[in-house]
Amino acid sequence: MSRVLFINMAGHGHVNPTIGLVKELIDRGENITYIAGKEFRDKVERTGVEFKGHSNLNMSKYLNGNLNLSDNEALLNTINEALLDVISTLKEIIEAIFNSNKKFDYLIYDSAFILGKEIGRVLKIPTISSNTTFTLNKTIITNILELLQLDKFKNKLEEIKPKIIEILNSSNYINFAKDLQETYDIKIPSTINEAIGKAMINIVYTSKYFHPYRETFDESYKFIGPSIIDRRESIENIDFNLKNEENKKIIYISLGTIFNNSNEFYENCFKAFNNMDVKVIMSVGRKTDINIFKNIPLNFIVRNYVPQLEILKHADVFITHGGMNSTNEGLYYDIPLILIPQFADQPFIANRVAELGAGIVIEKNKITPELLRQSLVRIFSDSNFKINSQKIGKSLGEAGGYEKGVDEIFNLKKLYYENK
Ligand code: UDP
Repeated sequence: MSRVLFINMAGHGHVNPTIGLVKELIDRGENITYIAGKEFRDKVERTGVEFKGHSNLNMSKYLNGNLNLSDNEALLNTINEALLDVISTLKEIIEAIFNSNKKFDYLIYDSAFILGKEIGRVLKIPTISSNTTFTLNKTIITNILELLQLDKFKNKLEEIKPKIIEILNSSNYINFAKDLQETYDIKIPSTINEAIGKAMINIVYTSKYFHPYRETFDESYKFIGPSIIDRRESIENIDFNLKNEENKKIIYISLGTIFNNSNEFYENCFKAFNNMDVKVIMSVGRKTDINIFKNIPLNFIVRNYVPQLEILKHADVFITHGGMNSTNEGLYYDIPLILIPQFADQPFIANRVAELGAGIVIEKNKITPELLRQSLVRIFSDSNFKINSQKIGKSLGEAGGYEKGVDEIFNLKKLYYENK
């Protein structure tokens, strides 16, 4: 039995894929202390870990896709506020680690947790990073900037650089960095490369085949595929009939759990598919009041949340925002995708699906009912979409999953402690 420290600072998408891995580690005898946002206590504690909660860091509050680039002052305020939030959460995490009297044998940290590598160095234990979306390296960063056409944002950052330096020279930040260094010997990463913080091994929850620029990753990257585990979402819990006696094609639509407040998009879907001979299941998110839709077509089932993995087993096409989990899940079940990326890594993920021929990308501000309908017809009339999605699905299914992830962690542990 080893004592494991698991650090996660981000949202659902960063926690969910780790659950299968953590359960498997516990089944194989490990003792885990899992630090994450308080809101995840129930979900994570159920696996049998010791849970330590920190204040939830709600970055979607800042990264809501509507950053106002024309108002420098507002932008700087947002950057300052976000930085203060990050500092306060980091402080809580550091205290939870160093006030604990446990001695840990190895550390697993979410790749967005920028101090992971440093904490591993200070505690003198092996490190493993947990990468819940496509992982980053120099090649990817260069290409992602081009792909996402972030030039506007980059230019803006250049323009306000002196002000950002001012923020970084403020007492809040300076005192925090000084305290980290003097009290714990921890240095804050000063370059993007340091912040990416490649660990001794790097678990990536997708397949190598699906990952962009796969040839640029060395052997320390372990592509274990998505963590599709039994979420105890039984088909009996679905309050509508999933049986498809008429044998119609089933279209499943969801924009995920974060950026899903898009009534206009849902209305466009109604208009696009109401006259088509398909059955549509649409998850509109918990923030959307379904009563505001006055004319839901008869071939639609609209819910705030559905057991997605169950639905996907029956779906023929998945219209998705391209979140990493949804994309992996859809492809795992060999389903061609229509992707409407909303924000963050989603354009990058969507682009990769299209590149491998398993789906069609539509820009969110170009959506029309006509375009949605045309895209669906294209998917139905060209069998290559299905073939290519099966190809990715096969690679995801064969990647080994959380069992392989734990095998890799145990290999590292053995190598590290045998050679010590
Ligand atoms: N999900 C679900 N039912 C829904 C909507 C979403 O079970 O009605 C799950 C979905 O299976 C996935 C997660 O929520 O695991 C969404 O994660 P993703 O990374 O796709 O998007 P995010 O919500 O982080 O934007």
